[in-house]
Amino acid sequence: MSNGQSRREILTGSSAALLAATLPACGWAQEPPKRKLGYAIVGLGSYATNQIMPRLKDCEFAKLSALVSGTPEKLERYGTEYGIPKTHRYSYANYDSIRDNPDIDLVYVVLPNALHAEYSIRASKAGKHVLCEKPMAVSSAECEAMIAAAKKAGKKLMIGYRSHFEPYNRHGIELIKNGFIGRPRLITSEHGFTIQPNQWRLDRPLSGGGSMMDIGIYSLNAARYLAGEEPVEVSAMESTDRADPRFRTVEDRIDWQMRFPSGALAACVSSYSSNHNAWRATGGDGWIGMEPATPYEGHQMWTRKRGKPEQVTLPVPAKNQFVAQLDHLAECAMSGREPIVAGEEGLRDMQLIEAIYRSAREGKAIRVAKA
Ligand code: NAD
Repeated sequence: MSNGQSRREILTGSSAALLAATLPACGWAQEPPKRKLGYAIVGLGSYATNQIMPRLKDCEFAKLSALVSGTPEKLERYGTEYGIPKTHRYSYANYDSIRDNPDIDLVYVVLPNALHAEYSIRASKAGKHVLCEKPMAVSSAECEAMIAAAKKAGKKLMIGYRSHFEPYNRHGIELIKNGFIGRPRLITSEHGFTIQPNQWRLDRPLSGGGSMMDIGIYSLNAARYLAGEEPVEVSAMESTDRADPRFRTVEDRIDWQMRFPSGALAACVSSYSSNHNAWRATGGDGWIGMEPATPYEGHQMWTRKRGKPEQVTLPVPAKNQFVAQLDHLAECAMSGREPIVAGEEGLRDMQLIEAIYRSAREGKAIRVAKA
């Protein structure tokens, strides 16, 4: 968007009401409970320690109560930093004994992808509510087992799709639902980054796959939430230089199209060798676009309607996407309502990822079963 194009504060009057309507409402029958629920964080890697743990102090309904790691030095360092007593620091070996700790209500699994199912299921069996990072697991069979374990325990299962709690993405969904662009015809959704070598993301047994599992899943999930309906067909093409040592066991790039029942199409990008972070939804009356679309911060949104471009600026929310996400599971645990991104949401993405891989492998379009 050029500098000469107009910029406006769109949140006035009915627009403000529109955004308020899009934020997850809590489902308290009466007064909200006073006690904050305690999270155990499982896996003290980059995302957990840099993005999640520092945000827990800002939560209204949740707090940090326990740490789980295979590295004693990390337990000591972060335990001291966050004031977590030694009794609330766990290794992977004694992880199951979280069952006996009443200060742990919620477990946040932030491990490499192939470990999500095991550690989520063990948490459910320990009687805890689970927030599991994306991708939910590395196969739809694992996702189904996770859903079954949470159901059996009578506890919640939520997937870490933070963009569902981010105001601009939520606003885009509402604008489309309310007919701002007319009938949606095309969604483009691009996510990728240039990956550095020597990490678990490039090791299939730990990652379950390449860019698609890690970053392409943002393209997939955004295309689905923008379309507001489930795709019925996918067609994919992969491009991987197997001579590149980074891509010995996982794919680099996989691009795909999806067809929705309304006739809308999505064109999606997933890449480990080029930088992308954008989506755009185009309909008969105009388009809404974001770039960057799903960063940690610094979202930018534009619209174009009847030829007129506008930049959209929303007020800073009381809770950022991380805090809103962390609080949401606590609210759901206390109120009994289902998370807006429950296990079924992760399962749907995994079923589609499997169809996308199959389409690329077999070189043909794949019809997907109704969700
Ligand atoms: P990371 O490598 O920084 O952290 C992974 C942690 O798991 C490390 O502390 C590591 O010690 C631990 N671990 C335990 N068992 C391991 C094993 N067998 N092999 C390797 N590591 C092991 O990774 P990360 O970037 O923090 O990613 C963790 C999860 O969070 C992934 O599922 C990723 O997709 C997700 N993630 C989500 C977002 C988001 O924006 N939602 C962002 C980054 C990462």
